[in-house]
Amino acid sequence: MPAEKLLRSIPKVDEILKAPELQDYLGRFRREIVTKKVREVLEELRLAIVSGERQKPLELREVIFLAQEKIDKFFLPPYRRVINGTGVVLHTNLGRALLAPEAVEALQKVSGSYGNLELDLKTGKRGSRYDHLVEYLRELTGAEDALVVNNNASAVILALSSMASGKEVIVSRGQLVEIGGAFRIPDIMERSGAILKEVGTTNKTRLTDYEKAISDNTGLLLGVHTSNYKIIGFTETVEIADLVRLGREKGVPVMWDLGSGSLLDLTPYGLPYEPTVQEVLAKGVDVITFSGDKLLGGPQAGIIAGKKEFIARMKKNPLTRAIRIDKMTVAALQATLMLYFEKDFLTKIPVLRMLTEKPEIIKKRAQKLYRKLLRTNLSAEIILEKGKSEIGGGAFPGTYLSSWVIKIKPKNLSTEKLASLLRLENPALLGRIEEEQLIIDLRTVLEEEINYCLELLVKYLAGDRL
Ligand SMILES: *Cc1c(COP(=O)(O)O)cnc(C)c1O
Repeated sequence: MPAEKLLRSIPKVDEILKAPELQDYLGRFRREIVTKKVREVLEELRLAIVSGERQKPLELREVIFLAQEKIDKFFLPPYRRVINGTGVVLHTNLGRALLAPEAVEALQKVSGSYGNLELDLKTGKRGSRYDHLVEYLRELTGAEDALVVNNNASAVILALSSMASGKEVIVSRGQLVEIGGAFRIPDIMERSGAILKEVGTTNKTRLTDYEKAISDNTGLLLGVHTSNYKIIGFTETVEIADLVRLGREKGVPVMWDLGSGSLLDLTPYGLPYEPTVQEVLAKGVDVITFSGDKLLGGPQAGIIAGKKEFIARMKKNPLTRAIRIDKMTVAALQATLMLYFEKDFLTKIPVLRMLTEKPEIIKKRAQKLYRKLLRTNLSAEIILEKGKSEIGGGAFPGTYLSSWVIKIKPKNLSTEKLASLLRLENPALLGRIEEEQLIIDLRTVLEEEINYCLELLVKYLAGDRL
């Protein structure tokens, strides 16, 4: 059919807008946006006709359907819930730590209502948003004082800028880390106004290296936890306590960027040794910084804890205002910290529960999903197997935890296609692909998410579908 004739088969915007199928949208959304989406559909159809891609005349029903699809897609939240079947507990792309229900509830309470964010309820006078967190942080870490900012990257910048602006900061070459997303210690240092003074080599740094580098212009000795990589083999690093001793002797403060910052020794649960926040402070480090949404299991935040005089300097730094936390962070972090005082905090804080969960318990969830899948007639090979999960979030590199996984090899579509269809759902389901199989690791899938996983897999793999 000639293009001109086909073009005439494109319905008018008003005709589409009158369709009963569009009335719900028009009742809820502003007319301009609905009209705009309809116009977009018509324009796409026009282009398809002009390019010769579209050869058949258009039917009104088809165009209405396309318009509905367009509007639905537009209002599908781009940022939405994901069922994490990757087994990576602190998955940065999936928002790192998931909050405990108590923290979510606290968030809800103060975000839909007013709260005493910067009001001292005892005196009725102006208060500080940080005061809600300081007492808990002091009890948990043993620090004299604390301050919380947007994330650990900004915590490091603030600390360096307050303690060592215009002065040299001595760091081991083995600790010049890049965390990802352009967080590199040398760049951060430059931004903070401090001058980087590298000592030692990639694999070996000794106390004498620091000692020789100290001058009148030294502002800080900085240690950085090598969170996301390991240097193995012929290596030597300086003990925190030794660096503290040197700092005292020379009158130079010592700061440690812990990164993941665990409040709990996780070695009894099969994880490698990593110094806890309390331990590092107890060794005499003046200031430490760590993330709120890594091993702590709270909201995105950068926690600075240490000596009062340094925290006081940071509070006076104008930068603090620029990187201050919002009321939702205060609420969620406060609730998370409070959970640490409860006897069963290990199961109440989801990140800790997932990291310490025994494989037998994960196996139960995997079996539950597996049995349900077997009961449906899926056109796929499905295997229940032992697997390995990662911790993620740049914590414990090279460490894997025993887990249980479901492996799926679809028969009527490619594994990539299945993975893509599952990703586009709301909530999305994310697994990992290995050897052309879709792997769902049950370590990071919650009990209440199992039925939904089943529902999605049945939707795309039901035996009679294709
Ligand atoms: C993760 C990490 C950071 C960055 O923390 P954010 O909270 O993501 O800003 C900084 N330093 C170290 C050592 C880290 O592991």
